[in-house]
Amino acid sequence: MTSSAAIPVIAIHGGAGTLSRNSISADQERTYHDALRCVLLPPQRLLASGGSALDAVTLAVEMLEDCPLFNAGHGSVFTHDGTHELDASVMDGANLRAGAVACVSRIRRPVRAARAVMEHSEHVLFVGPGAEAFAESVGLEMVSPGYFSTDARREQLQRALAASKTLLDHDGAALVFGNTPQTGTPLDESRKFGTVGAVALDARGNLAAATSTGGMTNKRVGRVGDTPLIGAGNYADNRTAAVSCTGTGETFMRAVAAYDVCARMAYGGQTLEQASTEVVMDALPALGGTGGLIAVDANGNVCLPFNSEGMYRGFARIGETPQTAIYR
Ligand code: ASP
Repeated sequence: MTSSAAIPVIAIHGGAGTLSRNSISADQERTYHDALRCVLLPPQRLLASGGSALDAVTLAVEMLEDCPLFNAGHGSVFTHDGTHELDASVMDGANLRAGAVACVSRIRRPVRAARAVMEHSEHVLFVGPGAEAFAESVGLEMVSPGYFSTDARREQLQRALAASKTLLDHDGAALVFGNTPQTGTPLDESRKFGTVGAVALDARGNLAAATSTGGMTNKRVGRVGDTPLIGAGNYADNRTAAVSCTGTGETFMRAVAAYDVCARMAYGGQTLEQASTEVVMDALPALGGTGGLIAVDANGNVCLPFNSEGMYRGFARIGETPQTAIYR
């Protein structure tokens, strides 16, 4: 099959998690749908005017980073020590080039830094102060770490700290997220994985993926999850698919989840839907993994599976009305 006839498409996610549906109003739910729709429109326009998948995913993730509703950029969660450590990555499916940053706390839009690593360095992954020095050297906007903080995230850390006292020895997600429901958001923020991501197919048949996160609330300082690891939380290859993940990062790393979707398609002849669904519904749960992923293939198929109760998600083909969803 050729991809020349496929309609360009952008898909995004804003994290997966446990529902708090009973505690939110229709207005609050609409806020999230509106935010997702607002993020889909500019990259959809960009793709419609012949823009690249790489530019579309970078733009979508930048907008999600700027939106405080999602755990990436402004509005990122806190570490155990009350600091921020952000991770991001990007991959170009046309040539398998990739870039990533991890444990950064001064780069306003980490996805731009990931892209700069890909385009302006001979490396793939920079961490901590070295990543920040690199970002500064290529002229990216730097901020003080306080820029990422919001009151809602600070309260979330307090709840997680309190809950972890009673949840020690339980599984990682319960330990990290605690068990006190939070009101006002469709997904329970104390149990939500808040990474953001985007995948796209452009008119030339190129695929790209980008992912960005504040990580997991109450994570230990220095902990790095799947988001900046190429193959674990993010992967793109024109021959198979572009994939961006969200969930318990440690299990996505052990499953090499994003690459596994592509490998199942390449070596096992699976469709995008079979490969994505088996990774999310079988391979990850077998390791205790919770979350989901978004994926698009060169024929413009889109698959958005998750094994949690909900996942903020949406997609927009050019010429069509964007679709957004939170629950099953
Ligand atoms: N996967 C991310 C991490 O482990 C968390 C998330 O998806 O929200 O850092």
